[in-house]
Amino acid sequence: MCGVFGVVTPSAEPTEAAAVATLGLFALQHRGQESAGVAVSDGEQLMLYKDLGMISSVLDERRLPSLRGNLAIAHCRYSTTGSTVWENAQPTYRQGPRRAIAIGHNGNLVNTRELLTQLTGGRARLPASTDTELLTALLADEPATDTVQALIQVLPRVHGAFSLVILDQRRVIGVRDPHGFRPLVLGKVPGPSQLGGPSDGGLWGTDDADVGWCLSSETAALDIVGAEYVRDVEPGEIVILERGVPPRSVRYAAADPKLCVFELIYFARPDSYMEGRNLYEVRRRMGEQLALEHPVDADLVMPVPDTGAPAAAGYAEASGLPYREGMYRNRYAGRTFIQPSAGLRHRGVTIKLNPLREVVNGKRLIVVDDSIVRGTTTKRIVELLRKAGAREVHVRISAPPIYHPCFYGIDTSIETELIASTHTEAQIETFIGADSLGYLSIRGVLAALDLPYDRFCFACFDGNYPVPVPYDAANRKFMLEEPVAAVTRG
Ligand code: SF4
Repeated sequence: MCGVFGVVTPSAEPTEAAAVATLGLFALQHRGQESAGVAVSDGEQLMLYKDLGMISSVLDERRLPSLRGNLAIAHCRYSTTGSTVWENAQPTYRQGPRRAIAIGHNGNLVNTRELLTQLTGGRARLPASTDTELLTALLADEPATDTVQALIQVLPRVHGAFSLVILDQRRVIGVRDPHGFRPLVLGKVPGPSQLGGPSDGGLWGTDDADVGWCLSSETAALDIVGAEYVRDVEPGEIVILERGVPPRSVRYAAADPKLCVFELIYFARPDSYMEGRNLYEVRRRMGEQLALEHPVDADLVMPVPDTGAPAAAGYAEASGLPYREGMYRNRYAGRTFIQPSAGLRHRGVTIKLNPLREVVNGKRLIVVDDSIVRGTTTKRIVELLRKAGAREVHVRISAPPIYHPCFYGIDTSIETELIASTHTEAQIETFIGADSLGYLSIRGVLAALDLPYDRFCFACFDGNYPVPVPYDAANRKFMLEEPVAAVTRG
């Protein structure tokens, strides 16, 4: 996944852009917890700081004051290509013959091998093993004199999912791939006059009444930094932000929107908006649909906290059953789904979730969650609830079964690790130890969204991939490590 944020501040205060980009990034921490970084430009020079770890541990008050400039981009990483090592943290940076650029990327490219060959016949030395590093090298080395022209030359050759924030000396540039798999929104940053003037002491400083602009993976981050949502960056569009002028738009490809439906079901924050819909409300309606499709007699409806909560509320409302919190979630542990190894994931469930014995003891429970990927987390949750005295555990999932891997930015692993691709629903029910199991249908998801199927990517549910995936799926995450290691050794 990853979270990206970019900003051109209205204030003359030189450390504000890095601070605001970091604040925006905090609102996107759920999108990636492996590394974080900020790149800034003062109009002449780019500066970058990045490291492995959560945003709060990487970008603290000791680092930010040294990152001076009115333009900034920020990134938090969840790896889909390349290992979790410092070199692969973002933003990337490269000084090419014509330009220096930094990039933050959300998504995953599918023609990475082909692009590597294009880069000086595959003999280029890359400092990292990510598709983003490759894209950065292609853009920095492109002969066109201007960054936007370089993008127009390079982007048509790049296939897959990419929502980008790009920093050069004078601009912050937002880009979305022609399908718009990953979200990216444009926000307007109020000047001090809109905040009540200098005495207001507002977030955006006091010495410059100009309006600023920002880009974000999700609208929630705009709320957090006090920016106003303007519009989505369109699929196939480049949006250019500069100080003191309104954003400019350049279209480099026709739009064929296929927003990842998983963003709406699970990944993005419930207080964000996508396709004009609030995601809490979308998920609540998914829960209503789930109750219609898979009713069962029980004593109460409970969510797997926190992400199952809106759908559980919808299920409870539609079924007329009481809603209760049946588990406490430790908010200081990372999200299980994006922990990198099976061992850590297993330990993660116990560390994170503890049943509320008073609520669940002796009860017939409907437990609502938003997805089953490998099945191990759900199995553990059912075990914990039974151990706490639950009489029956009926699992309800507010998404269809995941049969196929994602190649566009969610590391759902290879097909054989997806329980739905190797087990029937009856077998999954037995594996997780539930009394019953029910998944929401694709039709139910669409009823909740109230939007047509062809606006979304549903590939992990139905195998209908909008962009063909030409290489061996099994090795895709680490595919650049061998060639890069080889050229480095050479
Ligand atoms: S394959 Fe699934 S997770 Fe990947 S972009 Fe499509 S809907 Fe989203």
